[in-house]
This record gives sequence, C-alpha cells and structure tokens, in this order.
Amino acid sequence: MKNKIVVALGGNALGNSPKEQLELVKNTAKPIVDLIEEGNQVIIAHGNGPQVGMINLSMETASRCNSKTPEMPFPECGAMSQGYIGYHLQNAIREELLNRNLEMQVATVVTQVIVDKNDDAFNNPTKPIGAFYSEEEAKRLEIEKGYVMKEDAGRGYRRVVPSPIPIDVAEKEIVKTLVDNNHIVITVGGGGIPVIKENNSLIGVPAVIDKDFASEKIAEILDADYLIILTAVEKVAINFGKENEKWLDTLTVDEANAYIEEGHFAPGSMLPKVQAAVKFASSKKGRKALITSLEKAAKGIKGETGTLIMD
Ligand code: ADP
Ligand code: MG
Repeated sequence: MKNKIVVALGGNALGNSPKEQLELVKNTAKPIVDLIEEGNQVIIAHGNGPQVGMINLSMETASRCNSKTPEMPFPECGAMSQGYIGYHLQNAIREELLNRNLEMQVATVVTQVIVDKNDDAFNNPTKPIGAFYSEEEAKRLEIEKGYVMKEDAGRGYRRVVPSPIPIDVAEKEIVKTLVDNNHIVITVGGGGIPVIKENNSLIGVPAVIDKDFASEKIAEILDADYLIILTAVEKVAINFGKENEKWLDTLTVDEANAYIEEGHFAPGSMLPKVQAAVKFASSKKGRKALITSLEKAAKGIKGETGTLIMD
C-alpha cells in the first residue's frame, strides 16, 4: 500500500447541471483511478455549491407556485445533493476501474458533519443560498420564517446561512471500515450535512460547511498521508492576478500563514483551501497537502506540479 489520500473535488469536477455533470465525471474519474491504480487508498470528497443551490431554488420556486409542493428544508437539500452527485461519481469511478480491470467497490456514504451550536458563525450568517427576493418579500420571510436576508450585490435579497467549522464526522467509523477493507468511499459531500448533537439526536441545521474544511477533517480522522485539493488552477499564487504574480511550488506552514496574513488568498475560494492545507500539514508529522488542478493530479502526487504544503 502506498499512501492514503483524501481527494477534495472542486466545482470544475462537476459542472453546472446534472447533464453536464454526468459527462464531466467521466474525466473526473480518470485522475482518481490513476491514483488507485498506483496502489493508493483514495477517499473522495466534493463540493456542492451550485448543486445544492439548484435543488433549493427549484424546491423554493415550486412551493411558491404550488401550495401542494412542500418546502424542502436546507439540510435535506444537502442530503439530496450528496445522493445524486455520489450516484454520478460512484458510477463513473466504477466504470473507469472496470475499464482497467480493477475489481473494487465504490460507495457513497450520506455523511453528516457535526458542528457546534455555539459556533460564532451562527451569529453571523454569510453564505447566500437560493432565490433572489424583493425587499418586501425579504422582510416577510424574515418575519414568517426567521430567515436572515441580505442584499446581494445589487441583485436583490437572498437568504444567508452560517458557515460553521466541522467538529466531527458522524459516520466516521463506517467510512473507516470501508476504507480499511479497500473499498472506495465518497464522503462529506458538499462539506457534509451540518448537524448539531443533542442527546441521542443529530439535528440538521441550515448551514453550509466549507468542503475544504470538511475534507481536512475526514483526512485527519482517517489518518491520511495526503490531502489533495483539486480545483481550477494548477498552483497557488501570491499576488494572484497582478503583474508580479508568482506561482508557488512549495509552501511551509509558516510561509503559508504569513501569506494568509498578507491577504494573498481570496476568501471563499483559495483562502479556505490554503487554510485547510495548513491545518492538515501541521496536524501530524509527515502529513502533506497538495493544491492542484484535476488534470494535473497524477503529476502533482509525483511531485512534478501543484503547490505542496508541508511542515
Ligand atoms: P473550487 O470550486 O475548486 O472550490 P474556487 O473557485 O472556490 O474553486 O477556488 C479556486 C479559485 O480561486 C481559482 O480558480 C482562482 O481563480 C481563485 N484564486 C483566488 N486567489 C488565488 C490565489 N492566490 N492563487 C490561485 N488561485 C486563486
Ligand atoms: Mg470553493
């Protein structure tokens, strides 16, 4: 056995519609199966921003137009997104494995991620979700449903939900068992369904856990060697988009922290990736994080490209 690797897939691995996704996952499966073929144990995590947004928006629109269509709570929308994204990914990976005569099983685990009900994020919701509303409608929703509504860049009002930090993964023992038995697991989809623990209950909360942080959490729990964050860029840059832009091959934890302080990474896109990479690389000696593009994943793990973050 070579390495245990958690691969976190970004938006470009899945596309913008179910039809597009079904096509795109064929390509997404290739670098994943490359890693498996080389003898690595691979665990797959993925984002769900556009997908959960689409489900939420469809259900909201349908129930606004037709009183017979029930409202779909946000955690349920997240669960739905894990289901259909997992279904596409697991079939694409299965097919790619069979094409290479690899007999392995792939499963998606509907995964809940535990958050702290006292997380500060609950006092300051930041993630916009769902449809745009007029100021009037927004006021009504705040009163009737207790939503927090915020104006979104001149386009109207949207519901905002908190983005709490992941504390634990409810299904971690199942994921571990599957991984230990050499099965391929898709887990913490969309950062996991956010739940709070109350006695014996896990209660879904309307929130969005950052998939980069949730992937980092499961990588720590599984004692992975690598966290690979696959996104739209081959490397991380400082002075990104400026004339003195510099693409980075390696980053120590201290360097990464200094660049974070200097504001080189955009919040909501590159910042959570670098933060997750730093957290993983500093969690235990020898752990490494790699940020690169989907296409360059196999080269990246060989040390030929990408940005490697290690202590
Ligand atoms: P994902 O869907 O994979 O999470 P995001 O779009 O959220 O992807 O984040 C990746 C994007 O972050 C890149 O495509 C790039 O445009 C942007 N980005 C912001 N700051 C940087 C930086 N310093 N270096 C590289 N990319 C950056
Ligand atoms: Mg992102």
